[in-house]
Amino acid sequence: MSLLEIDGVTKRFGGLVAVDDVSFDVNRGEIVGLIGPNGSGKSTVFNCIMSIYKVTDGSIHFDENDITDHQTHEVVNSGLSRVSQESNPITAMSVAGNIQLFTLPNSLFSLRGGASEAEIYEYAARVDIEDKLQEMPDELPHADIRRLEIAKALATEPDLLLLDEPFAGMNQAEITELAETFRAFSEAGITMVIVDHNMGGLMDLVDRAVVLNNGEKLMEGTPDEVTSDERVQKAYLGT
Ligand code: ADP
Ligand code: MG
Repeated sequence: MSLLEIDGVTKRFGGLVAVDDVSFDVNRGEIVGLIGPNGSGKSTVFNCIMSIYKVTDGSIHFDENDITDHQTHEVVNSGLSRVSQESNPITAMSVAGNIQLFTLPNSLFSLRGGASEAEIYEYAARVDIEDKLQEMPDELPHADIRRLEIAKALATEPDLLLLDEPFAGMNQAEITELAETFRAFSEAGITMVIVDHNMGGLMDLVDRAVVLNNGEKLMEGTPDEVTSDERVQKAYLGT
């Protein structure tokens, strides 16, 4: 069985069908790309997986458990974590404090016992911000704020990490470095789904990609199959 199974998921907002009967699986150890033009439903799929949105129809299984109607903190505790498209660090706390928050008992996000300083350092080091632990988030450049968001997600010890537009706003050197970071996560046993609105560098990184358009799954396949697909090219030219 796959680690994550999305089965016929539909999400409506009033009359708008943001996600329309989408199904795909993610196998343990894979890096899967979830791509599509802006507004195609990518972030909504992530919000449904995390139970931030309640699905209108369909089901989501993680590690063979039906998590469709679970609370978000239960989804996180079962081994899923999401880096959202928008960064939302607590500006009154240091980088270390922001990471620590995601490991505390009674936190919405985790039932773990809270992390030691050495563990916080380790989460930061995995995204190369270990020398910035005492800085305040609003002193950091954009790429480091994004790295902090990823460190927060790591602090819940996910088996599956959902990354929403992690490369947005980064320069080419930062993109290349972050892709290396994700390869290291993969070697450490973390399965990943990475959202991007263009195909760019993502196709060098992923094993497989799922393409959304207007809320529907257009196709899925290997990077070669996706980039050479006429429907995909048309969907991208049409925006
Ligand atoms: P993507 O991440 O692919 O750019 P989204 O999932 O953010 O796309 O959005 C898909 C569609 O759903 C868009 O038309 C968007 O306006 C709509 N949508 C997303 N979230 C909400 C919401 N909370 N309320 C109403 N409409 C929403
Ligand atoms: Mg989005």
